[in-house]
Amino acid sequence: MKALALLSGGLDSILATKLILDQGIEVVAVKFILPVTSEKRDYAEEIAKKFGIPLIQVEVGEEYLKVIRTPRYGYGSGMNPCIDCRIYMLREAKRIANEVGASFIVTGDVLGERPMSQYRRALELEEEEAGLENLILRPLSAKLLPETIPEREGWVDRSKLLAIRGRSRKPQIALADKFGLHEDYPSPSGGCLLTYKEFASKIRDLFAHKEEVTKRDVSLLKLGRHFRVASSKIIVGRNEEENKLLLALKDPGDYVFEVPGFGSPITILEGPKSNEAIELAAKLTARYSDAGEEEKAKPLQGFRGQRGEAPLIVVEYKPLLSLSGKPLQGLRGRGAEPHKNGEKKLRILVSPLDENEVARLRI
Ligand code: SF4
Repeated sequence: MKALALLSGGLDSILATKLILDQGIEVVAVKFILPVTSEKRDYAEEIAKKFGIPLIQVEVGEEYLKVIRTPRYGYGSGMNPCIDCRIYMLREAKRIANEVGASFIVTGDVLGERPMSQYRRALELEEEEAGLENLILRPLSAKLLPETIPEREGWVDRSKLLAIRGRSRKPQIALADKFGLHEDYPSPSGGCLLTYKEFASKIRDLFAHKEEVTKRDVSLLKLGRHFRVASSKIIVGRNEEENKLLLALKDPGDYVFEVPGFGSPITILEGPKSNEAIELAAKLTARYSDAGEEEKAKPLQGFRGQRGEAPLIVVEYKPLLSLSGKPLQGLRGRGAEPHKNGEKKLRILVSPLDENEVARLRI
C-alpha cells in the first residue's frame, strides 16, 4: 500500500508522515514550492532524507497567482485564500498520486488549528472540490473525523491515529520529542507571507495596478521597501543582498538608481518613467543612502542650502538609452545631466525625501 503525503516541512506535516510510515505504509512525499513562502531552509527535503522516503518538489506555475487573485472562497486574515490554495494543492496531489500509484493522500491538518481552512466543513469542501472524498487521511485529527477509505479498508489502523484539536502546539511538540525530532521543524512564525499584513498590502497593490502578474513580480514583493507613485512602482533595496537580487530581477525597461561614492541602496523604478516618478525615485535613493548623514555633517561649502537644511545629493540613474545615447523616455527632470565618465548613466541632484512623503508613498 502506498500513500502520498503532503510534506510542506512544517511540524504537522512531518508528524502526519511519520505516523503513517510507522504503520509500515510506503510513503511518497510531495512538497509544493509556492512563491509566497519565506522559509529559506528546506525542512521537507531534510526530513524526507531522514525518513528515507522520496520527495517530489513541485514548483507551482503562474496559474497559482490567479488562485490568490480571485479566490472562490475568500481570504483569511491577510490575502491568504487558504481554502482555494489547499484545493489547488490537493488537485495537484491527486494527479501526482495517480502517477506514483498512491491509493490515498495524507495531510498534516489539525482540526480547528487554523480558523479559515481547518474547520470541519472546510475540510469536507476541500475534499469535494479536489475529487478526493474519503481519500484524505489526517492522522493528527483522524479520530475526530469520519472514517476514511484507508481506515475502512484496513490499510491503516485507526486506533493508532490521533485526536488532536485546536491551536495549541503542545501535543505536536510532545510528539516530536517522542519521535526524537528536536531540531527538524521550523518555528510556527515563518511560512506563508500572505498572512502578514505588510505583504498583504503589497500584493493587494500589485493586483490593483497590474493586469498580468508574474512570479517575478511576486518575488520582487519579498525584497526592499515599496512605494507607489500613480502607475509607477519604486523599490528600494535594504541591504547588499537585496541590492544584488533587485539587479538580477529587474526588467530591461526598469530604471536603476544609486548614489555614487556612498553606501547606497539600489532603487528600481518600474512602470511609467514620468519626471515626478524619476525625481521621487532619486529622492528615495538619497533618503536611504549614507550620503544624507555624511553630507549633513560636512561644512557648508560644496552644497547649496542653509545649515540644517536637507543636503543636495547626486543620484545616478540608468535609463533606457537609444543608440545615440539619448534617453528614450522620461528624463526631463530638474538638474539632470549626462554622466561625465562616459557611462550611459544620468545624474540628478535632489534632497532626500522627507519622512511625511516617505510615509505617504509607502505601500
Ligand atoms: S497559509 Fe498560505 S500556503 Fe497555507 S493554505 Fe493558506 S494561502 Fe496556502
